[in-house]
Amino acid sequence: MSQRTTTPRAELHTHLGAAVDPVIMWTIAHRQGIKLPVKDYWDFEEMITVTPEKKNLSLDQMDKNYYHWTELIQSSPEAIEEAVHAVIGGGYRKCNLVLQELRFSPMKRNRTGERDLDLIILAALWGMRRAIVEYPQVNAGLIISLDRSFTPAQNAITADKAIRYMSDGIVGIDIAGPDRKTFSMAAHAPLITRAKKAGLGITIHAGETGNMRELEYVVRVLKPDRIGHGLIAAQNKKLLKEIARQKIILEVCPTSNLCNSILKSVEELYATIRAFIDNGVRFTINTDGPEMYRTSVLKEEEFLLARGIMNEKELAQCMRWAFEGTFIRPRNNGSKQRVKSPKK
Ligand SMILES: [Zn+2]
Repeated sequence: MSQRTTTPRAELHTHLGAAVDPVIMWTIAHRQGIKLPVKDYWDFEEMITVTPEKKNLSLDQMDKNYYHWTELIQSSPEAIEEAVHAVIGGGYRKCNLVLQELRFSPMKRNRTGERDLDLIILAALWGMRRAIVEYPQVNAGLIISLDRSFTPAQNAITADKAIRYMSDGIVGIDIAGPDRKTFSMAAHAPLITRAKKAGLGITIHAGETGNMRELEYVVRVLKPDRIGHGLIAAQNKKLLKEIARQKIILEVCPTSNLCNSILKSVEELYATIRAFIDNGVRFTINTDGPEMYRTSVLKEEEFLLARGIMNEKELAQCMRWAFEGTFIRPRNNGSKQRVKSPKK
């Protein structure tokens, strides 16, 4: 169905591993000769998508059961080019996304060192470039995700590559992945500072699960532009005030949070979002990965509206914050078109 008539939208929080249409993933997997555990397309679609009926009990489960396969399939220059290309065009066709930031971890796509990281990143950028030539209405940028499962030295390698490819369309860095006992946010402070000084946007997954101390550290010391999720801040009024004062934007992903049991119920989602609104916290509505969660920014908005969690005015405000909070600079698509908030 054509979405041309819907309001132009922006999405800031999408993981490549959760964003590619299963049909395309199926073909990419076969083209590369990847041995899949299923032989029927429908079983494959089931395997890499989540539904509310088959919830994950934790982020760890999500990582092992789903991202393992999608990241493996996307682990070559050819595969990542097709994947990125498909997501940007798909977002425009399905949801009128005229601005899209897409994130991925190159180090999770190099088959543990077999593939060259630079070529993986360049292929992703080329896929993005091809998409914005085909869809000149779209502004797009890639965020490089560091990961909690890697050491600070490994993540520094990736962060430095993000800096190197800034002028080609890498717009920010992120820290992602389930909580790990071995992970230290403080050990990553120098590389966050370095990326910030270089001019990259900084977003960090924090407060998605229960570590309040880490979230406080991120807000008070690292001071990122944006935070992925930040849900547990809702339980800490002082921290909410600080997030609001610093104008840090929280990237909220309602369906993902419910599917991954981060929020236990719609009531909990309601309480979290109302706490953000009541304390003047700026936030955006995202999917975390439209295909894996079988959703879109449009569907997320409809859900929030239907459940009485947010009204139309509040949703429109979130969309304006998404356009304001983007790391994408207008020149990324080579056109003179500026990134701007859609007219009401
Ligand atoms: Zn995420």
